[in-house]
Amino acid sequence: MTLEDVIKRLRKPGKRDPERFISTWTEQEVLDGETVECLVIILRTKGCYWSRTSGCSMCGYIDDCAEDVPSEDILMQFGEAMKRHAGQRFLKIYTSGSFLDDDEVGTDAAQRMLTDALARADRVLIESRPEFVSRERLEGLPEPHRIEIAMGLESASDEVLRSSINKKMDFEDFRNACELCRDLGIGARAYILVKPPFLTEKEAVMDAAAAARSASGLADVISLNPVNVQRNTLVEYLWNRGEYRPPWLWTVLDVVERSRDTGSRVVVSTAGAGSRRGAHNCGGCDSAIIDFLREFSLDDSASPPDPGCDCREQWLDLLDAQGPMQCSADPRSFFDR
Ligand code: SF4
Ligand SMILES: [Zn+2]
Repeated sequence: MTLEDVIKRLRKPGKRDPERFISTWTEQEVLDGETVECLVIILRTKGCYWSRTSGCSMCGYIDDCAEDVPSEDILMQFGEAMKRHAGQRFLKIYTSGSFLDDDEVGTDAAQRMLTDALARADRVLIESRPEFVSRERLEGLPEPHRIEIAMGLESASDEVLRSSINKKMDFEDFRNACELCRDLGIGARAYILVKPPFLTEKEAVMDAAAAARSASGLADVISLNPVNVQRNTLVEYLWNRGEYRPPWLWTVLDVVERSRDTGSRVVVSTAGAGSRRGAHNCGGCDSAIIDFLREFSLDDSASPPDPGCDCREQWLDLLDAQGPMQCSADPRSFFDR
């Protein structure tokens, strides 16, 4: 059985209400060097096409999707979600898939949402897999210089993309999409995964730092995304067996330090951080590091904290031990649960 088959078996595609958007919230972002309010909207669609076939090993977004969501319903959700817009200058519109996939969102609906969003905000971010970032599609976008396209690169290693993440793309696909964005004056953002499954903690540091370096000449913003354990995923299956632990926050800090001078703006997602399913340390020092990661994402001159916690020694021991063990498991964290 292939990795694709295993992941497919674990999936439980959602059958949610196609007329209701998934979520909205506000957060802070940086726009032209200034910290601004950002409205984030997650629209419900039938989901990422790759997730409907198999999917990435850490991605459980398909759970929140519906079997089918016609374009009219997506537009209605967008209208409802935009009622929460209170003048925010930055808008992020996600779909748990690809905004530019005509089969998922519909080209006309996507154009209408973008036009409306750009009339109300200075900057609009959408997300897409690279294969939908074509010249023909991009040339049809309204006001490209005010649009940013986020793409999940995850790793710059084709081996990790294939054998750990099951991403169904390679680095070259990402490079081509970024170059196209640059040609047309569209911003590009790279999502990089911190600690894909089967990598030791040390390999995870090196892999994410290498991805940040490789993406820095291509993407304007690099977003480091530590894995959080999502439902019905291969990562959750391994985590339940004690064969996967989300990254230590020390690992995330290490990747930040190795990535901060690459030339692109670096931000860090703290989704799930501090919980058992998210990036975490011992519990005693987590909040100091998470606060720093949030501050750093808005101001890259922020200095890393030194919470003076003993768990850093445990983390260093693990970095040394996992190599000879030839295994990415963290037995102590399993017994501590
Ligand atoms: S991570 Fe992105 S590309 Fe992979 S299955 Fe999820 S939505 Fe699709
Ligand atoms: Zn600690």
